Amino acid sequence: MKERKLEDGMPICIMCDIKMKPVKVTLSDNEVRAWRCSKCSEEIIHPEDAQLALIMAQLKKGVDVKVGILNEAPYVRFPKSFSHVIQKGDVVSIFLETANDIRLKIKHTESA
Ligand SMILES: [Zn+2]
Repeated sequence: MKERKLEDGMPICIMCDIKMKPVKVTLSDNEVRAWRCSKCSEEIIHPEDAQLALIMAQLKKGVDVKVGILNEAPYVRFPKSFSHVIQKGDVVSIFLETANDIRLKIKHTESA
């Protein structure tokens, strides 16, 4: 059995013993890096992207956080897993949809 070497950028298909080609595939609504065998269509998802897609899928289900009060202003903290999508310096716009539904829009900045 051949060793799959993802770090080389060109893994070998274990079925066909030929180099797999880099492709983009959709996993849980996220575009991820992958490699595909042109002969048998076997795909390998980039492990980092696979993990990120898993985190994104979990976050899309929603996460419960407790509201705190600081100087009479309510606040919530994002769970650490959101650090994959929100960086320090990003600007967040808050929209009140209804009393039970608040939407956030993130404007990403280049510098961290
Ligand atoms: Zn193959």
